[in-house]
Amino acid sequence: MSIINWIRTQTYNYSKKLFTLRGLSLYSILLLSFLNIYGIILLKGADYLSYEHILPSSIATLTWATLTPLLIAIIPSKLIRDSLKYLAYIIISLTFIVESYVLCIYKSILSDSIILAITESNIQESLEFIHSISLPEPIFFCFFYLLISLFLTLHFFKGSSTKRLKTIPFLILCLTTIGFYPSEVYDAAKRGFESGYPDYIEMSSFERIYWGAKTCQKEVATMQELFDKINKSEIKGLTISKDFGEHSIILIQGESLNRNYMSCYGYKEKTTPKLDSLIAEGKLYLFNNVLAPAPNTSASLPRVYSLYLNQQTKKHWYELPVIFNILNQAGYYTHWLSNQESVGLWLNSVAAISRLCKSQNYIRKTTSRDWWSKQTNYDGALLPKLARRVDFKAEKFFELIHLMGNHGEYAERYPKKFEVFTAKDITDNRLKQRQKQGRAEYLNSILYNDYIVSEIIKFYKQEKAIIIYFSDHGCIVYDDEENLSFCGHSSKKGGLEIPFMMYLTPKMKQAQPELEELIKEAQSKAFMTDAFPESLLGLLGIELADYPRSQTNLFSPSYDETRERKFEW
Ligand SMILES: [Zn+2]
Repeated sequence: MSIINWIRTQTYNYSKKLFTLRGLSLYSILLLSFLNIYGIILLKGADYLSYEHILPSSIATLTWATLTPLLIAIIPSKLIRDSLKYLAYIIISLTFIVESYVLCIYKSILSDSIILAITESNIQESLEFIHSISLPEPIFFCFFYLLISLFLTLHFFKGSSTKRLKTIPFLILCLTTIGFYPSEVYDAAKRGFESGYPDYIEMSSFERIYWGAKTCQKEVATMQELFDKINKSEIKGLTISKDFGEHSIILIQGESLNRNYMSCYGYKEKTTPKLDSLIAEGKLYLFNNVLAPAPNTSASLPRVYSLYLNQQTKKHWYELPVIFNILNQAGYYTHWLSNQESVGLWLNSVAAISRLCKSQNYIRKTTSRDWWSKQTNYDGALLPKLARRVDFKAEKFFELIHLMGNHGEYAERYPKKFEVFTAKDITDNRLKQRQKQGRAEYLNSILYNDYIVSEIIKFYKQEKAIIIYFSDHGCIVYDDEENLSFCGHSSKKGGLEIPFMMYLTPKMKQAQPELEELIKEAQSKAFMTDAFPESLLGLLGIELADYPRSQTNLFSPSYDETRERKFEW
């Protein structure tokens, strides 16, 4: 009897203490659920995003909202309970501030890539970034909401009650919510972390912060490891036989462009009008037989930038010198400007390579894994960020401009103004309406890419520069005869046939007249871009004693056109 009595008294006392913390529960629910719901409203329009995602995140939120008071109420000392209560208020408010800031500014919920973007950019950059955007109204709404919630919970839900009728039901309510905590939320988060794809949209704020930071840390560590490897490969026996004086080399790195859809390569629709006229004026040199070494970015670009050669090299690509290392040593100031991801499962190798450059500027803050994000960064956002040789007070300048180019989803690659082609323009009647639409969007992305590449050329026109454009790989856009419904990376013809072109500015042409001849001779030769470094370096008169590469140097008289060009994944 006495034990039962003791339990009753304890339960009653506990529920009384718990009841004084109901304001905290309500505050968590008001703020954290708000993020789930308002987030979805703000991000609405992003593909796949629906109210279904609210359920798991709301249950997780509810659990935290009741678990915290349940734990605090165990503590006997009122002083400690109160201190913890206010600490919880502060943590929840800060979480809310951070998340609503990310939501309004980055147009995404918190994720590992956002955490990286925030931590990686130095203070100066962050200030510039914040300065460059006028604070949107939603953020003021968020702060207003926070103040109202704070006032409401602190003012109306304070004090205690001795009525069991009130306190006991609250205890039961709290305990029930805990029971609902979906183990799936935890399991899914853990699985996501292990695979590199945490589904942040189905988590509450606290899980987002925890798993986001953990994932970010893991990715950075992986990249650092790779960076250390490529940074180690020694460059020995470097000689420079030509003197170009002050000059710039601009490499525009395209993405997912199959040259068979470009009018400059003979496609029937006018998808590259600006490049067409540059070619007609004899200023732009088109190479018409170039293949990518692999059909996807992460496999292709390391082969493009390192001295690795498909089928010939017996080592890993990262054991060989990378072009940026060589250029650095040859006295170039190397700069990497990118509209792609600065970190990420797929692009870790490329991101690690970019860090070999003396400076980097990544303008994109989210990754493709943040599919809920509404941040649209068309390649046009790169134009105001183009750098010049004089910006770095360099004599020799090399800039790589990594475009998002023609990567799927195609419709997200160009602004409304470039929506020129529609499904009606696609005459292949074997295709379904949706596939025709997809093809038309691809053509529009090429039209926009035509504008971007020609704008970049225009920007450097007055300088003494060599400008090179090629795509990392091609793409199949519902044109595989064996599988018409397929769209994406492929090792078939269209997945590897890429555009490759070079432009010599008037000053460069005048100073180095021999370049034009070398380029013209190479234009129709069979080439694969895994031999890009030795070809460019050869053109610049840079040689490595340990890597004699005249046979794979496209501009050398001993270039071997019969080399087998087989892709590798
Ligand atoms: Zn790619």
